[in-house]
Amino acid sequence: MTVPVTSLQDLVERDRDHECEGFGSAKVCVRVVGVAELPTRFGAFRIVGFWNNRDAKEHIAIIKGDVLGADAVPARLHSECLTGDVLGSLRCDCRDQLIMALKKISAEPYGVVLYLRQEGRGIGLLNKIRAYSLQDQGLDTVEANLALGFRDDERDYAIAAHMLQSLTIRSVQLMTNNPKKVGALESYGIDVRGRLPHLIPPNPHNRFYLETKANRSGHFIDFGGKPRLTEQHDLVMVDGMPDALVEKE
Ligand SMILES: [Zn+2]
Ligand SMILES: [Zn+2]
Repeated sequence: MTVPVTSLQDLVERDRDHECEGFGSAKVCVRVVGVAELPTRFGAFRIVGFWNNRDAKEHIAIIKGDVLGADAVPARLHSECLTGDVLGSLRCDCRDQLIMALKKISAEPYGVVLYLRQEGRGIGLLNKIRAYSLQDQGLDTVEANLALGFRDDERDYAIAAHMLQSLTIRSVQLMTNNPKKVGALESYGIDVRGRLPHLIPPNPHNRFYLETKANRSGHFIDFGGKPRLTEQHDLVMVDGMPDALVEKE
């Protein structure tokens, strides 16, 4: 069933009856079901909607330029964060990370953001709120997740790997500070040609917090006057923010 693919739109027809053995332990399989233009305040993109055979989560890719068959495509895997992305929560820096990814990719010839609907590191929105509640009572983010019976990070990138393959992307440059993400994608057969640091510069208010986080997290980091490295769900601090809102570390 080889349907010639010359545009993103062709992927819909190609995938109409797509089935494969699936990726990862859940054997997840995805199909491209819709492609549309998506002009945004950060640039002109196209949006690609994916159906999957495991749950009703509607994952999407936001694409700049021609990624079909392309090599070393700048790629960002973003996990949905309703509180951060939409509401502008300061408990994390997801929104900043997402916007920075869109802006960066918009300035490149091509690139992709996979917007993965795995809210709260995969535990779901309601459980994330429960975890926040525990953090309000003094637990740190890892302890809170464990108290709710979850691993610290329930995210799985099998679906992302299949999405990249569905888009016929040959290899990626992963925009991340998290070495685990590189390894996870590679374990699903994705050719990761390199890592593009995804940095939000520290400011006098968050520097100590970020240094602490970096020392504990194992993320790539260098504070010798260089930008910090964090991953989604780090706290972001702004001027005038009361100490009471600061995540306990
Ligand atoms: Zn498949
Ligand atoms: Zn977040």
